[in-house]
Amino acid sequence: MKKFKTELLIIGAGPSGLGAAIYAARAALDFFVVEKFIAGGQIVVTEFIENYPGFKDDVSGFDLMQSIIEHCKKFNINIHESQSIESMEILRSGRKSKCKFVCRGQDIEVVAGSIIIATGASPRRLYVEGENEFIGNGISFCATCDGALYRDKEVMVIGGGDTAIQEAMFLVKFASKVYIVHRRDELRAVKSLQAKAFAQPKIEFLFDSVVDRFTGGNKLEEVTIKNVKTNEKTVKKIDGVFEYVGIKPNSDFLKGFLKMDEWGFIITDEKMSTSVSGIFAAGDVRVTPLRQVITAVSDGAVAATFADKYLDDLD
Ligand code: NAP
Repeated sequence: MKKFKTELLIIGAGPSGLGAAIYAARAALDFFVVEKFIAGGQIVVTEFIENYPGFKDDVSGFDLMQSIIEHCKKFNINIHESQSIESMEILRSGRKSKCKFVCRGQDIEVVAGSIIIATGASPRRLYVEGENEFIGNGISFCATCDGALYRDKEVMVIGGGDTAIQEAMFLVKFASKVYIVHRRDELRAVKSLQAKAFAQPKIEFLFDSVVDRFTGGNKLEEVTIKNVKTNEKTVKKIDGVFEYVGIKPNSDFLKGFLKMDEWGFIITDEKMSTSVSGIFAAGDVRVTPLRQVITAVSDGAVAATFADKYLDDLD
């Protein structure tokens, strides 16, 4: 077990965690960044981002995060990758204001005076028959990773939000046809994306529709779609399915420790403070009206600024 002590622990190295790290570095804080997988966060699989100021030409999520990681290197920020924190406890030392937090993972223990939770969110699943069987074998959550496998083939995107529409627009580069299956008759995606998708002849919308089940042999072959208004079922021969039905916060390890909403998003105030003094949350893991790279980075900056103030006030 590797043991560390630090003033500030940042958990997660996506846009919010790295935004926090840059602000913590400039505040000359002693801090430590852990990341469960590799630095970058879920945005690295987004094909293009057209709304991050300063990047007027579409930039891929991967390239944008590489720029942010390079920026961190300028401040000598060390990201401890492949380290997950799985539990947390408060180490009291008499005075409540002097408490410390003990964070443990499989082979790491970090004692910190303050914490920023920047663990982000993961793709939600449909949980329908056949889904488990065909994940990685016809069902994917990443068009950037798997889209090229479907050159001149018919694919299906599930969902009606920004991600679904954006990734469908990416898939038309390869696929001969892209069905978008959405459970309502109106998309959730921003109007500018909708306009692009409606104008794309390779895209066909199946509104008021949900996936009933996935079937096939060694790999996915058919998707049964159910119209939720008529209950009519249609079987479509499909080569690949991309699920984009939203996200789930990576906050399970904090259940019962911090206040969350019914879906597990962490509740914060405008300073990113959580229900436990000294613990802050930033980015997609918190309750927020907008989940974008720009808001995640901004949350990180606010969290680091107020973590610094919290630590100063303890001195
Ligand atoms: P989202 O906005 O929550 O959309 C999820 C979609 O999946 C919705 O259309 C929803 O339908 C549908 N859905 C949810 N559960 C379903 C189920 N069980 N079965 C069938 N359909 C289901 O998620 P998102 O598209 O991943 O976007 C998440 C956030 O990231 C958003 O705030 C988005 O704006 C942001 N984003 C930003 C960018 C960018 O910066 N360029 C790119 C991508 C995403 P309903 O509409 O009926 O609820």
